[in-house]
Amino acid sequence: MAQENLSVVLHAKGDLRLETRPVPEPGPNEVLLQMHSVGICGSDVHYWQNGRIGDFVLKKPMVLGHEAAGRVVKVGSAVTHLKPGDRVAIEPGVPREMDEFFKGGQYNLSPTIFFCATPPDDGNLCRYYTHSANFCYKLPDNVTFEEGALIEPLSVGIHACRRAGVTLGSTVLICGAGPIGLVSLLVAKAMGASKVIITGNNNPK
Ligand SMILES: [Zn+2]
Repeated sequence: MAQENLSVVLHAKGDLRLETRPVPEPGPNEVLLQMHSVGICGSDVHYWQNGRIGDFVLKKPMVLGHEAAGRVVKVGSAVTHLKPGDRVAIEPGVPREMDEFFKGGQYNLSPTIFFCATPPDDGNLCRYYTHSANFCYKLPDNVTFEEGALIEPLSVGIHACRRAGVTLGSTVLICGAGPIGLVSLLVAKAMGASKVIITGNNNPK
């Protein structure tokens, strides 16, 4: 195992650096992952360009990246469902406490949630990264790492189509043909929409 952990670190607005960080040790309920594919989200670009997204402000260096898949190389002492060699996709949001949101099945809304590459939490655009084993999902053999990294953005499309009540025969308008618009299009089709219209800009600046 290479001992270098090359990482993409955002230091401040417009100040992106490649740095070598130590390879982290997994805690009892964590796994150490060798990262394979990490998408670059609009939010990563936004933090780089603006140093903030709304109330989330970069105050100290942060590793970017949250759309990710990798291979397990080490497991913590309490981890039983994953083993070295397993290929996984990462759920980047990990609740820190069993609050009312967690108990209601909406841990993603927990105000204290850990979320990769949302200040101050480090992301996984790096070679080695530790993550809660319970929030790593094993990939079937027929799903590539690249596809694994697209599961997080795909889930955004699934959530959007569920909220919109897309079903057989729906007519759907998607505003914006970026990556999230396109995964929403795929999901709308899969949910049975018969007509999907997507807006786009053919005159980019
Ligand atoms: Zn994203």
